[in-house]
Amino acid sequence: MSTGGADGRRLVVLAGPTAVGKGTVCQWVRDNHPEVWVSVSATTRAPRPGEVDGSTYHFVDHDEFSRLVATGQMLEHAVVHGVNSYGTPRRPVEQALADGRPALLEIDLQGARQVREAMPEALFVFLAPPSWDELVRRLVGRGTEDAEERARRLRTAQDELAAQDWFDTTIVNESVAAAGENLVELLLDPPPVPADRRVTP
Ligand code: 5GP
Repeated sequence: MSTGGADGRRLVVLAGPTAVGKGTVCQWVRDNHPEVWVSVSATTRAPRPGEVDGSTYHFVDHDEFSRLVATGQMLEHAVVHGVNSYGTPRRPVEQALADGRPALLEIDLQGARQVREAMPEALFVFLAPPSWDELVRRLVGRGTEDAEERARRLRTAQDELAAQDWFDTTIVNESVAAAGENLVELLLDPPPVPADRRVTP
């Protein structure tokens, strides 16, 4: 895969704590900017009501997920919140970049670290909540997790918030459209690659 020059920065990785609105912001980009290619991850988690196989996620069982990893078909993968596996299918990312399209991945911090190993010139964007209280309010408000799962996700969120400095830039998710616009600006006109991350002269 080409990771050099302008190509490398065409890949944008969005990460951030649970319930901050990563999925909603990515959906906004899908709906409003078809020129941006948005990755569909594979996961072993069960679909939530309204989620569509092949569109929200590729929902696979544990055996299929292991097979995808073992055969090198995942760009990155991780167990998230201690239970389910999530991963980015490699080939569609390579195809989007080969087609010259800006590409967006929405993944967790472990996955972001793996992508940075493989593609140091990619742009890493942290989506932050306006405040911790607002994050808790959003997680409780969406009502898709039970109390135990919420507690687990909030523990992960604390670690993820502490890792914010690792990212190239932060977007505070005050409103979906504003955060989405901000993200699209970065996808279409990325800032230069820092000198210590350049893989081509
Ligand atoms: P959810 O179960 O709420 O859809 O997602 C849980 C977490 O999994 C989120 O933090 C999300 O960023 C992360 N995630 C989704 N897709 C991927 C992926 O392909 N790779 C990794 N590493 N994490 C993912």
